[in-house]
Amino acid sequence: MTITPLMPVYGRCEVEPVRGDGCYLYDAEGREWLDFASGIAVNILGHSHPHLVGTIQKQAATLMHTSNLYKVPAQQHLAERLVALTFADTVFFTNSGAEAIECAVKTCRSFHFEAGRPERSRILTFSNAFHGRTLATISATNQEKMRQSFEPLPDWFTVLPFNDLDAVKAAMASPLGASVGGFLVEPVQGEGGIRPATPEFLQGLRAIADEHGILLILDEVQCGVARSGTLFAHEQYGITPDIMAIAKGIGGGFPVGACLATEHAASGMIVGRHGSTYGGNPLAMAACEAVLDVVTEPAFLAHVNDMAARLRSSLEQMIPNHDDLFDSVRGMGLMMGLKLKSDSRAFVNHARSHGILLVAAGDNVVRLLPPLIIEEHHIRECVDKLSAAARAYNPAVAA
Ligand SMILES: *Cc1c(COP(=O)(O)O)cnc(C)c1O
Repeated sequence: MTITPLMPVYGRCEVEPVRGDGCYLYDAEGREWLDFASGIAVNILGHSHPHLVGTIQKQAATLMHTSNLYKVPAQQHLAERLVALTFADTVFFTNSGAEAIECAVKTCRSFHFEAGRPERSRILTFSNAFHGRTLATISATNQEKMRQSFEPLPDWFTVLPFNDLDAVKAAMASPLGASVGGFLVEPVQGEGGIRPATPEFLQGLRAIADEHGILLILDEVQCGVARSGTLFAHEQYGITPDIMAIAKGIGGGFPVGACLATEHAASGMIVGRHGSTYGGNPLAMAACEAVLDVVTEPAFLAHVNDMAARLRSSLEQMIPNHDDLFDSVRGMGLMMGLKLKSDSRAFVNHARSHGILLVAAGDNVVRLLPPLIIEEHHIRECVDKLSAAARAYNPAVAA
């Protein structure tokens, strides 16, 4: 066994970036990659964005961390901004997506506790979901690769088939129904393979939740913050959640997340119910403010949608030239999936040697998650690189 100073839990590839600029990453030798991974949907403003960098630098020199023992004006200000932009009345800041989900689950549990229904402790989740890697969040998925070696896990979640409203109705009508306190769902599954929820499914979950007095929790950690073409993906479904977890894009690269809720849903989150040492520190808040400054500019979402339409049609035009490899395009906004006819991980590895970074997902899907500031020439470059990679690709050799 080799001893290593880093726990060898990641199957890291050979790319070793030391510098980023806009939509590109560079290693110490100056090799360049077009970054259509964005640190897994995180760097929505690309790398070294001047407004984000400047804001963080200024805040770091002023005040980095205090504590939630004290008032944190930067939290108050950002929360007011998020509340004004969303369905929510109240916000809790975290350091990551999984922690935002943990807060969402605690908010749901304490809501029912305070309402005198502590038996409504179960949350229904959906097949191939990804909600993070903490013990609670791996309990919320049926993905074996996340759960493996950690059984027994808490039995707080029941996983039902995604996009199957009849299965939800049947579960709610069964003896299990009385123990259900909410639904937890990604409007667009990321890790699971860029699978958007159908409108009927999300709208149906909203209606069933209302009918039973239970809560709809959305995981917008990956699809939120303009990625889908609206500030939050659920806006395109004509519904609002009771609770929403966000992270990834909101910090633009700074580790930060948030749990947003209506006042009603958060009625159990009273003094002492939850906390975090770092959550909402002034430096993290400054990063989020800078990201919001950019994504709420009037033309920003129009740009995302324009680029998304161009990327989709360019990919669709490319598919017939390599129809032994590429199957179809799916997704919302700049959260796009290219379904392959063979293993997507192997193709993502191969594409790196053609100068483009992508992310593999479930269902043999290659995720394209570019910075939201891409321009037309980045799309042309992406398609050129994908085509060159496809021409030089032999799945049998790669596998
Ligand atoms: C990345 C992700 C998470 C977990 O976020 P971390 O910051 O890694 O804890 C949760 N849900 C979804 C949908 C994600 O994509």
